[in-house]
Amino acid sequence: MSRLPVTPPSAALIGGEWVPTPYSLSVEAPATGEPLAEIARCEAEHVEDAVMAARQAFDGQLGDWNRWSARQRGEWLYTFAAAIDADAETLSALECADTGKPMSQAKGDIAVCARYFRFYAGAADKLHGETIPFENGYSVMTLREPFGVCAQIIPWNYPSQIFGRCVAAALAAGNTVVLKPAEDACLSVLHLARIATQCGLPPGVLNVIPGLGKEAGAALAAHPFINHLSFTGSPATGTLVTQSAAANHVPVTMELGGKSPQVVFADADLDAALAAVVRGIIQNAGQTCSAGSRLLVESSCYDEVLSRLTQRFSELRCDAGENDPDCGALINARQRAKLEDRLAEAQADGIRVAASGSLADSAPSGGHFVVPQVLVDIPEGHYVACEELFGPVLAVQRFEDEADAVRLANSTDFGLCAGIWTNDGGRQLRLAKRIRSGQVFINNYGAAGGIELPFGGVGRSGHGREKGFEGLKSYTQLKTVAIRHD
Ligand code: ADP
Repeated sequence: MSRLPVTPPSAALIGGEWVPTPYSLSVEAPATGEPLAEIARCEAEHVEDAVMAARQAFDGQLGDWNRWSARQRGEWLYTFAAAIDADAETLSALECADTGKPMSQAKGDIAVCARYFRFYAGAADKLHGETIPFENGYSVMTLREPFGVCAQIIPWNYPSQIFGRCVAAALAAGNTVVLKPAEDACLSVLHLARIATQCGLPPGVLNVIPGLGKEAGAALAAHPFINHLSFTGSPATGTLVTQSAAANHVPVTMELGGKSPQVVFADADLDAALAAVVRGIIQNAGQTCSAGSRLLVESSCYDEVLSRLTQRFSELRCDAGENDPDCGALINARQRAKLEDRLAEAQADGIRVAASGSLADSAPSGGHFVVPQVLVDIPEGHYVACEELFGPVLAVQRFEDEADAVRLANSTDFGLCAGIWTNDGGRQLRLAKRIRSGQVFINNYGAAGGIELPFGGVGRSGHGREKGFEGLKSYTQLKTVAIRHD
């Protein structure tokens, strides 16, 4: 078994206690394929206990969370953020080993996790309703109230970041949480939950139930006592989860996939554009919902862009995350086999690999590595340009003019992010308006991950917004109070 700096709890956090489960799941290291840890495997009964604990904590029957003021909640979030920073080395090592991502990215993710808690700590006591002018004799106001029990089902690609995004906002707004982390990578989340309890979070406010999606995840999504559900994952699972929640009229936020275009015009700063294009596809080995997995290039600079990309990709190395390579391993053997099959089919269809990176000499032999690559000669509508492949694979297409660029950018069912690279101000605005996407980045890609900016998709990429102040509001519901006094 690979060595970890600490052993994360192989139990579920329910009602403030670490509860062992009869069965466990083995977690493996993507970089070596070797076992890394054992985690709890929660079943329906554990989900039941966790939801009831969260309900009781919300109602004030367990602990005193329901009497905490917004300022007190904010203060706790600050304390927790500081504790995350203090334990960042351990958390980053867990994240790196568990997800296979490069160490510098794992460190960045832990820092972002702490930033979420700090951001929502400051925002907790700035959330307010409004007064509404109405007929004489009435006073009308809106109250912004927490939902109650928030169910959160999160994926394996950014466990600690997404934990921060969802948990910090939900708690700042006064909710309680039952969080189901992904079976493929949840060690940092379990350690974060341990730190949270050590920081004095009252029992039942945060419950963490590791397990399989079809067991713990399905039971949580279908539970009639949850009041809100936030899901981040694949569109197919998002559909199942939405259907379960709909049966109980539970509101959902869906953060699903993407096939996000980076649109490069000949007048752009190509150095800046290409650096961001490469980063946007190799980050987390392309296993990022907002990966810039399509590159649309204006015909007049296509050859130059391709030759520069070829050079850059040839320098990219895959290796174990601890060696801080350009690109880490994919999460598991299944994901790697799925991607390799798709790539083999694409080559059989005449699609060409124009450039690729390579495996570092130090890369462990059992790792789930797929080298970064650039695909060209893609017929319009081919799946490599429409389907989320979830790997370090960039699909390149050329366009003739602005209208063609918009048409191609909008040619998938997804709509998460788009990068536009041009120095023409009018064109920047026209494209920002015409491209169907939750986020449009002009002369940058991802706005350095800005946690302050609302984030979410349109179409198959999902609905609802997380991050930023909007994300805090999304964990509240409005109550209208109309008082007749004359
Ligand atoms: P992937 O296929 O890439 O693992 P998923 O969308 O299936 O992505 O996983 C995202 C999260 O959803 C994980 O925590 C997973 O355990 C959970 N999950 C998977 N299947 C279900 C399901 N049927 N119901 C609820 N949650 C699920």
